Amino acid sequence: MEKLGVHRDALQPMSVRGFLESWDPSAIPGMDRGSVDNEKAMLQTFSSEMGIPVDTLQELNIVCGESTLKCNNEPKLSEMFQTVPADVNLMSLKMQQEELERRQQSTTYNTFIKRSMRMKKCDFLMNFSPNAVKTNEENCPKEFRVHHPDVVITVHIHQPNNAQLGFNMKLALDQTILVLGGEKLTDLRDKITCVNDLALAGDLSENPDFTPEHYAKDIYKSGFFYIEGCFFNDLRDSSAHDYSQIIIDWAKDPDRNIGPMQTASMADTSFLDLTLRLGQPYVYMHQGDCEHLIVFSDIRILNHQDPQDIRDYPLVTHKRLKNQTKCRVCQMHASRWMAYNSEHSPENPSFFCEQCFRALHYDQFGKKIGSFQAFRYFDSSAVI
Ligand SMILES: [Zn+2]
Ligand SMILES: [Zn+2]
Repeated sequence: MEKLGVHRDALQPMSVRGFLESWDPSAIPGMDRGSVDNEKAMLQTFSSEMGIPVDTLQELNIVCGESTLKCNNEPKLSEMFQTVPADVNLMSLKMQQEELERRQQSTTYNTFIKRSMRMKKCDFLMNFSPNAVKTNEENCPKEFRVHHPDVVITVHIHQPNNAQLGFNMKLALDQTILVLGGEKLTDLRDKITCVNDLALAGDLSENPDFTPEHYAKDIYKSGFFYIEGCFFNDLRDSSAHDYSQIIIDWAKDPDRNIGPMQTASMADTSFLDLTLRLGQPYVYMHQGDCEHLIVFSDIRILNHQDPQDIRDYPLVTHKRLKNQTKCRVCQMHASRWMAYNSEHSPENPSFFCEQCFRALHYDQFGKKIGSFQAFRYFDSSAVI
């Protein structure tokens, strides 16, 4: 029987430190060495381990390399879907042909398809090509170099789980981040971006020129990760609340059959101290009730193709590209105001850019017209 709350695809709990300690560096010779000239050294080590001369190894490398997987005159991936061979009688190809013709005939349809197929996320790992990693490593001062051996853990952060969305809520992936085993959980927390951290609280309709000095993240600093029955609370700031206590008290009721739950300090726990299940959804909570699912999807040994500068970690490798919330009036500019009970829109709340908001809701002396409430609005595309 499945354990309560364990995702069906999740692996057994594993200790991150145990994983690192079970690693035998001699399994892949040269991995613990620096990348300078390490290819030659690695070949030498392989050669003596396998009892094969170096030039035979190099030949094997070419004969069994990726380049041999390609045929002659193979079309490019982008061209492959544009030309349908005439001599193949397959239903899938027939439909592909029809689809291509439909796109050719209608520009509107073609634009719609292109838009819906647009990349929805940005790949930052492209900045870390093997050559860039090598240059960075050579230029990186010694004190900032990563320590070997260590592990790299892939963490997926999902968009906030907004309870108002109900059953149809989208748990879209927001960020993918690589963390090192030696890093603290707070390092990961500081790298997570969420639109709710940038909120400016309060109805500003009486005085739209007033700009509150602080974002929500500057005022409300509490937060926790919930991983394998333990709340890791961020109590670095003296004003931070222990969010976990109220949940622990609630779970004490034996009828709920939940728990026991522990607590620990987020700032004092490194990823090596964790026991986790790959594939199991855990929780990151902040700003009172902003909940994100987080999933650890992979754990592996740090190698020399990874960025070697410790300041690059936690490393954001992917980030979801966000659509701007456009002003409902001009449909051109990004929304900067969210108004409730505005008589200029059938929606509630409704969204306005700076210019349209001012033009519709205030007279020439800047006096408020009508009764409405207005809040500064940052849509998710505003989060950098
Ligand atoms: Zn959030
Ligand atoms: Zn506008």
